[in-house]
Amino acid sequence: MAKEALRKLSKYGSKRDFTVTDEPSGESEVATSEHLRFVIQKHAARRLHYDLRLELGGVFKSWAVTKGPSPDPRDKRLAVEVEDHPLDYGDFEGTIPKGEYGGGTVLLWDRGLWAPEGDASAEQQLRKGELKFVMEGERMHGSWVLVRMKGDRYGGKRNNWLLIKQRDAAAVEGKTDALMEEDRSVASGRKMADIEAGKGRGPEPFMLKSKAAAKANAVWHSNRADASASTAPAARQPAARAKRSGKSTNRTASKGSGGSAHAAGEASGPSAGGRARRGARSRG
Ligand code: MN
Repeated sequence: MAKEALRKLSKYGSKRDFTVTDEPSGESEVATSEHLRFVIQKHAARRLHYDLRLELGGVFKSWAVTKGPSPDPRDKRLAVEVEDHPLDYGDFEGTIPKGEYGGGTVLLWDRGLWAPEGDASAEQQLRKGELKFVMEGERMHGSWVLVRMKGDRYGGKRNNWLLIKQRDAAAVEGKTDALMEEDRSVASGRKMADIEAGKGRGPEPFMLKSKAAAKANAVWHSNRADASASTAPAARQPAARAKRSGKSTNRTASKGSGGSAHAAGEASGPSAGGRARRGARSRG
């Protein structure tokens, strides 16, 4: 990992004991991607929230979205900026032991590609406190904005942001709870209860170079000897999709395609659309 990324992840590492939790330590080899990736993890910690993670500069910039993202542009969802996470965290699904930082069950709720909108870089926009971007995943579509809340300028920690859907074809007004009620992992098909019980199949990789699914029971008291071993050879589909989406240049969006993140190249933003449409290609 690049030195810069390691520096950014020091806070992440200092909060966790990797002899106790199965969370990634940032040492697994991550696949390269032509486009920036995002994941959203449903996390039943002390309070249920949704962790939005945007790949940038070799790490995941991360926000804990307390009520989860809303497709309704009238909703402003509190998004608390948290420490940068390693990219291999994007494949984590399992249970963090009670008593550990963030103890509770984690489900891979969405994943796909993202791109900043406009002329300024994502880094510049984040520094200014307003990031306009597009996401294309299985559940997240179209344009969004993250706005840093003012008021923090009076000595606050400046870590409170709002996540707001921008008006576009993917916006939905009213009845937005249905989206948050979707309790199925995009990586394993499991529900929170399955993951908590360590049942079902492990998540198919998206970030990692490994083609095999991770173990299904990434839980406390796991047998460390096989903690990094795979339990199922599950690479066939994502690999095939990656190839397909990497080659097709004029595919149109089809929401019902069950599209994995690899196939989610249909960005609709004016600036990002062309780039993202070419699709992700996770090499290796
Ligand atoms: Mn969390």
